[in-house]
Amino acid sequence: MANKVKSDKDYSQYFQPPSLTDAKKRGKEDIAVHYDFQIPEGMKEFGADKYYLIRTFGCQMNEHDTEVMKGLFEQMGYQATEDKFQADVILLNTCAIRENAEDKVFGELGHLKALKAEKPNLVLGVCGCMSQEEAVVNRIMQKHAFVDLIFGTHNIHRLPELLKDAYFNKEMVVEVWSKEGDIVENLPKKREGIRAWVNIMYGCDKFCTYCIVPYTRGKERSRRPQDVLAEVRDLARQGFQEITLLGQNVNAYGKDFEDISYSFGDLMDDIRKIDVPRIRFTTSHPRDFDDHLIEVLAKSGNLVEHIHLPVQSGSTEILKKMSRKYTREHYLELVAKIKRAIPHVCLTTDIIVGFPGETDEQFEETLSLVREVKFELAFTFIYSPREGTPATDMEDNVPMEVKKQRLYRLNELINELSKQGNEKLQGEIVEVLVEGESKNNAEVLSGRTRTNKLILFTGSKDLIGKLVYVKVTHAQTWVLKGDIVDAPVKNISIPS
Ligand code: SF4
Repeated sequence: MANKVKSDKDYSQYFQPPSLTDAKKRGKEDIAVHYDFQIPEGMKEFGADKYYLIRTFGCQMNEHDTEVMKGLFEQMGYQATEDKFQADVILLNTCAIRENAEDKVFGELGHLKALKAEKPNLVLGVCGCMSQEEAVVNRIMQKHAFVDLIFGTHNIHRLPELLKDAYFNKEMVVEVWSKEGDIVENLPKKREGIRAWVNIMYGCDKFCTYCIVPYTRGKERSRRPQDVLAEVRDLARQGFQEITLLGQNVNAYGKDFEDISYSFGDLMDDIRKIDVPRIRFTTSHPRDFDDHLIEVLAKSGNLVEHIHLPVQSGSTEILKKMSRKYTREHYLELVAKIKRAIPHVCLTTDIIVGFPGETDEQFEETLSLVREVKFELAFTFIYSPREGTPATDMEDNVPMEVKKQRLYRLNELINELSKQGNEKLQGEIVEVLVEGESKNNAEVLSGRTRTNKLILFTGSKDLIGKLVYVKVTHAQTWVLKGDIVDAPVKNISIPS
């Protein structure tokens, strides 16, 4: 049941806010899979002549949730708009991973307050990971009472009913489930472009001490293999050129199946036989990266030579405090194994600097690991505590100046390694998926190599959405430039 709350009252009597304590519980209950989703009668024409706008913050998982919500809106007859003055519904699909992501959302809400005053019929909603946090929901209810609707990550499929409640009630509608729900298949999705995302699993059971995701996304639940394979086949038929398999921890895929033994390696082995040019995945966890998966990835074909393998720190002591459940040595052995099996692999990573108690020596261990692995890109972050996570009980004792200095040194090193990686491609011919015109020059096309490097070159716009070969003529830190090689557009042959 959605809870309706009046903005001028003690909200606690109206509903139980989402609870991080409840979200942490990992029960044994089975997750049911539903295949019978339908837009409720009475909502199918609800959006006729109305417009929706969704602002998405955060990761690809959120981008993909937005695709689902767009699909739901369009099945209700709504049209998309980017103009907030035209919109009848505005949703903020939020991210909770870092404090500044949350600040951005509250900033955006501040701007929308004036619009809501001008257009009282506008429905303004907040959804996504932030909505799963009790402190955030309380803050919105107390300080941003003009918001009409709050819902979480586990009940996106309830959007039509919640929207109806928000329209017909003068009070804020709040529906956030602390516990994950079942898996709902056959939700509509509005996908655009030549690349598509496919969720293969939801949630995370790892509980790294700094991370809020296991609380906001619930326990690990894998979609059934036949559902994932059917979706990928369908996308291939529709002509998508690249598919990214999504999960907080994709290589834990299948661990929750009790009736079958089927791992992420098995899934990749089946997907590589589907006629789609490129398959990627994100994100993987070093602990679950097994030999079978490496063996399958080495078969190449449509499985690209790019692995994003978050390390977070190069110090075993810090990894232990983060509860990453692997050591520096284990990570390096894994990398060595991957490089032996896939010689041209491009490795990228995530790293946090200034974790509580991180010493200069431990930070130096991170730098030395980065040098040894030769990551070609890294998402690097300064540690900041997230309310509700175990790391908030650790003393955040690395001064901000030191954190900034470490981040600067790390980024300098990553820049250098990225440039070196790109320079190795100088003079080489690479396969490129043409994505569109370059942002800065409509005469130039931009695309991505199999290792996900950005490359610019001159060519006909007819090539957009196709695979071509480009000879690399310039290698810069973050971009390659080249010339199309006079070769036919590649016909992909997928190994059987
Ligand atoms: S593996 Fe760790 S960092 Fe990744 S989502 Fe799970 S808890 Fe967060």
